[in-house]
Amino acid sequence: MALCLFNSLQRRVEAFTPLFPEADAIGFYCCGPTVYDFGHIGNFRTFVFADLLRRYLEFRGHRVNHVMNITDVEDKIIRQVAATGLSLAEFTGKYTDAFLADLATLSCLKPHHLPKATDYIPQIIDLIERLEKRGIAYRAGDGSVYFSINKYRGCGCRYGQLVTLDPEAQRQTERVSGDSYDKDNLADFALWKARVPGDGVVFWESPWGEGRPGWHIECSAMSMALLGPSFDLHLGGEDLAFPHHEDEIAQSEGTGLQQGGRPFVKHWVHAAHLLVDGKKMSKSLGNFFTVRDLLNKGFQGREIRFLLISAHYRETFNFTLEGLEASRSALARLDSTVAQLTERAGAANPDNTLAPSPFEIAFTEALDDDLNVSKAWAVIFDWVRETNAALATGSLSPAAAAERLHAWRRVDGVMGLGARPQEEAPAEALALLEKRNAAKAARDFAQADAVRNELKALGWTVEDSKSGSKLKRL
Ligand SMILES: [Zn+2]
Repeated sequence: MALCLFNSLQRRVEAFTPLFPEADAIGFYCCGPTVYDFGHIGNFRTFVFADLLRRYLEFRGHRVNHVMNITDVEDKIIRQVAATGLSLAEFTGKYTDAFLADLATLSCLKPHHLPKATDYIPQIIDLIERLEKRGIAYRAGDGSVYFSINKYRGCGCRYGQLVTLDPEAQRQTERVSGDSYDKDNLADFALWKARVPGDGVVFWESPWGEGRPGWHIECSAMSMALLGPSFDLHLGGEDLAFPHHEDEIAQSEGTGLQQGGRPFVKHWVHAAHLLVDGKKMSKSLGNFFTVRDLLNKGFQGREIRFLLISAHYRETFNFTLEGLEASRSALARLDSTVAQLTERAGAANPDNTLAPSPFEIAFTEALDDDLNVSKAWAVIFDWVRETNAALATGSLSPAAAAERLHAWRRVDGVMGLGARPQEEAPAEALALLEKRNAAKAARDFAQADAVRNELKALGWTVEDSKSGSKLKRL
């Protein structure tokens, strides 16, 4: 079976096949953060999902060229820059660094490219000029440049590829933004926004005067600059499908840069929303969490990741702190099995010539099915139960344990949970260790065993080696 994914463009699950089978990597673009604040877990649901899909494509033998943009110029950013007196680069740099740190906390692989919109102004201008030459972009009375949906349609192109909603009706709600009034048509959107006094020092020179790019054109410019005019996969949160992604398609295909009847993007994949305690996250409801808020509550990045990938990407996910507690327990079961396997395997090496185990095959079948993580977790926890049973009977040879461990590491290469971080032993346990070592030195083995049991009750075990004894979490 091949990997099948829901393609928002076709509105159905279909087999993923690379656009260019001979290319050395799959073009993979995910809309990144707007860096004006710390990212919340709703944002990170999409990014962790993108990481899972990238890891799975790699597991299935593809090379992936992963691009995630950083939106570093936008209304909220401009307001904050004016309020803080920082430069645009200083202000956005701080939140970009925080975002990348959070991404690492959640064990997301770093994208291969992290383009910043402000580094792509020449490419953005070039795209707008191409659209202007084809008569699809026009300059309005306010000095801004807009995309003409009617002209685009006149070229035989289709606006409304991702959505079936009436886009004109959708746009009515946007009328409040003052710049709407100079457009030829209400549905048209800004490609280049003329400088206004509120922009302060944030502006660039362009053939249309001073100004800044519209948000949508940034993603068209960065994705096509790094992945070419046609590429394989474009991801984002479902709230971006319209108008952001629809506009990306229109701008990109409006340039006519695509060759051989190929589309701008072959597979569009959207991750559903996240609710917290059954409600939309909001600061006023007190259910708004950044990754940092959760770390401050004592949770680990891998526990947050586990919870975020416990539900199917197309289902609205209800995030709760109780869910996070349950993730902690489930991970502890998994960690305990992996720790016991590691101990049993000892120095034994897995036989790498073996075909994938039934465990890996079942896991692959689950994720091939539109990344069905529920099925994948069921496969993983069946394997945990079965492995625990084999460990309990003592029937598992070191070589068999090493093979199981090898299979787990391959599977975890996709899930990205990694090993349990080593915990520092508390002072109480360290004192018991000294007491036990003293008893052992005095050859009082009954006392040494009694202290060992006390340590066990605290959740620690003693490991003796030539270099001394140390504590290990049970
Ligand atoms: Zn985007």
